[in-house]
Amino acid sequence: MTRIAIFNTGSGYRQFFRWLIAIAALYVGGSAFAASVTHRYTVTVDYALSRLFIEARFEKPVQSVTARSREAGKFLLDVRSCGDDQQIKMRNRRMLLPEHGISCLNYTVDLQRAARENRNRKLLLPGNIIASPIYWLWRPELQNGTSIEVEFRLPQDVQVSVPWQRLDDSNSTYLLGKSPESSYAPAIFGNFDYRELEVPGAVLRVSILNGINEMNNDDIADWIVATANDVSLTYGRFPNPSPQIVVIAVGGGRANSRSAVPFGRVVRDGGETVELFVDQTQPLQALLADWTATHEFSHLMLPYLDRRQRWISEGFSQYYQNVLLARSGAYDDLYAWQKLYEGYERGRRARPELSPNEATVRGVKGGLMKVYWSGAALALMADVTLRERSAGEESLDKVLDKFQACCLPSDRVWTGEELFMKFDSLASTPIFMPLYRRYADTAGFPDTSDLFERLGVTVSDDVVSMHSNAELQLIRQSITETDTVAAGRRQQIAGF
Ligand SMILES: [Zn+2]
Repeated sequence: MTRIAIFNTGSGYRQFFRWLIAIAALYVGGSAFAASVTHRYTVTVDYALSRLFIEARFEKPVQSVTARSREAGKFLLDVRSCGDDQQIKMRNRRMLLPEHGISCLNYTVDLQRAARENRNRKLLLPGNIIASPIYWLWRPELQNGTSIEVEFRLPQDVQVSVPWQRLDDSNSTYLLGKSPESSYAPAIFGNFDYRELEVPGAVLRVSILNGINEMNNDDIADWIVATANDVSLTYGRFPNPSPQIVVIAVGGGRANSRSAVPFGRVVRDGGETVELFVDQTQPLQALLADWTATHEFSHLMLPYLDRRQRWISEGFSQYYQNVLLARSGAYDDLYAWQKLYEGYERGRRARPELSPNEATVRGVKGGLMKVYWSGAALALMADVTLRERSAGEESLDKVLDKFQACCLPSDRVWTGEELFMKFDSLASTPIFMPLYRRYADTAGFPDTSDLFERLGVTVSDDVVSMHSNAELQLIRQSITETDTVAAGRRQQIAGF
C-alpha cells in the first residue's frame, strides 16, 4: 500500500529515491566501514613471564570491552585510559568505561596467575607457560568485520605461539578475527621448540613444549609431518594452510591407556589449533601406528559443527582416519575394513532406541559409540554412492576438495543440514540431505551390512575377509588404495 502511494505522487517519487539513495549510502558506507575496523594492540611480555603490559588502541571509540572468561578480572592488576592517572573501575567482572566510549586502554595482567588456570601446567617446565587469551585479552566484539592486530614485544629468547593469522615473518604480529570459539585457544609464551613444518598445501606452526618429560623432538616432528601428510591424501593438500599444532608430553604408564597418543583435540578459537598429548616413553613406531593425530587432523576437513550434531564431525573423522591410515600404508586394507566393521558394530549396539541427533544431546549416557560411528556409516554410504553412480568420477574426497576450496577455514559454526546442503550443491545430484533425512532423527543405526557385501567385505564371527568377485570391489579398492609415495615416506621415517 505505501509503495503504491509513493509512486502515485511526484513528491512521493522524489522522497522514495532520496530514501533509496540514503539506504544505499548507509549500506555501502556501513559495510565498507565495518570491514575496515582494525583495533591495534601491543602486548609486552616481561623477562620473568610474570606480566603482560597491554596497550589497546581502538580505531573508533568502544563502549564495551570484555574478556571471554568470567575469571579474567582476577588477573587484572591495573587498568586505565591511556595517559590517564585515573584507574578504570570494575563491577561484576566488567570494566566501567566512560559513556562516550574509550579510544585507548592500558592494562596489566598477572600472567603467572593466568597461566595457573591451565590444567597441563604441571607437565611443563617453568620456562614455558600456557595462558589462553580468554584470561588476558580484553576486547570489543569481533562482529561485522572487526578485527584486532596484535603485536607482541618479547624479551630475548622468549617466543609466542597463537593460532591467529600471522602478519610478519618474525612471528610477532598477528590478526585476530571472528571465529567459532568452540573452546579456548592456547597462547604459549617461553622457550619451547617452535618449528614450521611443510606439508602439501600448508605450513604447520608446531610448538613442542618443554615438559618435565623429555621428548625426542625430531621424532615428534617426523610423526607430525607423516600424519598431516595422511590427511593431504584426501585431495592433495592439508585443509588449513597455517594451523597451530601444540605437542605436550604426558608421560607413560597411564593406567587406563597404553596408547602412544592418549589424547588430542581441535580448538577453533581465533584460528585452528590441534593439541596432541603424547606418551614420550613410546618409540616413534608406536606414534606412527596411533590413529589420534590422523583423527584430529581429519576434523579440519569439516568446519566446526553445532555441538548437537557432533556425530557428523566425529563420524567423518572416524571414517577418514581408517581410510587414510590404509592409504598411507600404516594399516593394510583388510585391517582398515576390520576397524570400520568393529566401529559400526559398536555404534549399532549403543543405545539402539535413540537416533544420532538424540544420542548427541549433552548428558545422554551410553550413546558415545553411536555419536562416533553414525556419521562414519553415512560417510561410507555417501562415498560409495558417489563413486558408483559416477563410474568413479565423483567421491567423498572430491566433494571435500571442493568444499575446502569454497568454504575453509570457516569463521563460523555450521549446522549439519547446512553442511550437507552445501555438499549436495558440490555433487552432481543430491545425496547427503537424503541420507540426513533418512537417518539423523531415526532410532537405530545406519545399516551398512548390504554395502559391505556388495563391496566384497564378508564378515564371519566378527572377522572380516575380502573376496575379489564382488559387485563393487573396484570401489572398495579405490577407497583404501595405498599411496606408494606416502607409504614409502612413512617407512623411511620409521627406519624400515
Ligand atoms: Zn574427534
